[in-house]
Amino acid sequence: MVAGNWKMNTTPAEGAALAQAVIEHVGTPGTKVVFGVPAIQLTQIQALTSKAPGFYVAAQNMHQEDSGAYTGEISARMLAAAGVDYVILGHSERRDYFGEDDTLIHAKILKALAAGVQPIYCCGEKLNIRQAGNHEMVVGKQIEQALFTLEAEQMRQVVIAYEPVWAIGTGVTASPEQAQDMHAFIRRMIHNYFGQDVAESTTILYGGSVKPDNAEELFGMPDVDGGLVGGASLDAAGFAAIVKAL
Ligand code: PEP
Repeated sequence: MVAGNWKMNTTPAEGAALAQAVIEHVGTPGTKVVFGVPAIQLTQIQALTSKAPGFYVAAQNMHQEDSGAYTGEISARMLAAAGVDYVILGHSERRDYFGEDDTLIHAKILKALAAGVQPIYCCGEKLNIRQAGNHEMVVGKQIEQALFTLEAEQMRQVVIAYEPVWAIGTGVTASPEQAQDMHAFIRRMIHNYFGQDVAESTTILYGGSVKPDNAEELFGMPDVDGGLVGGASLDAAGFAAIVKAL
C-alpha cells in the first residue's frame, strides 16, 4: 500500500484535480493507493476512487464516540456511511498538537473497526528517544497499548505505519536498514501476540520524508510493505512515481 496524507492542504477543487492527476499518472496500480484527505473532501474523493480500481480514500482522524455533543467532530459511523475505506489514527501531529495518546487511539481503533473502516495506525519515536537507543521500547509500548487487546480477526483489518517523528516533514529519512529493523521488530511483536498468520498478513508502512528518489530503496526492504507519504503526496507526478516504486 502507498497512502498519501494531504494533511490540512488543498481546497476541494485542488484536491479533486490532484487525485484525478494521480489516477491518470498511475493507471492501474499494482498495489493499494490511498488518498488521506481533509474531511470536507471525503465524499468528493470517494466518488473518484470508487470508479478507479485500486484507489481508496482515508480520513485523517475521527472521534471515539458514536454521536453526541462533540462540536466539530466526525464519527466512524459517518465515515463508513460516506464510503470511506480507511482512517489514519495516531498520527504524530495528532499526538503532539491535540494531546492524543495510545489509550485514546485504542478507543478510536475499536470504533473504526466496529463501523467497518480500516485503521491506519501510526506509531514512532521522537529524536531524543532514538538517540538514547530506546526506540524499540517506546514503539513497543505504543503498539501494546493501541493494539494488544484486539482479537486476531480485528488485527487483520489494521494497517500499521511506522513513522519516526524525527523523519516527518524534516527531509531526513530513516535509512532503509533503520526502517527494516523497526518493521521486523513490529512484525515480531505481532507474531508473538497474534500468531504467524496475522503477522505475515499485516501491512506495515514506513512514513517519514518518503520521496521519489528514496522510495524504491525503502520499499525494497523485506518488512517494508509500502509507505505513508506526507509532503510528496501533494505532487501528482512525484506521488505516482512513489506508487510505482513499490
Ligand atoms: C506524514 O505526515 O505522515 C509524513 C510521513 O510526512 P512527510 O512524508 O512529509 O515526512
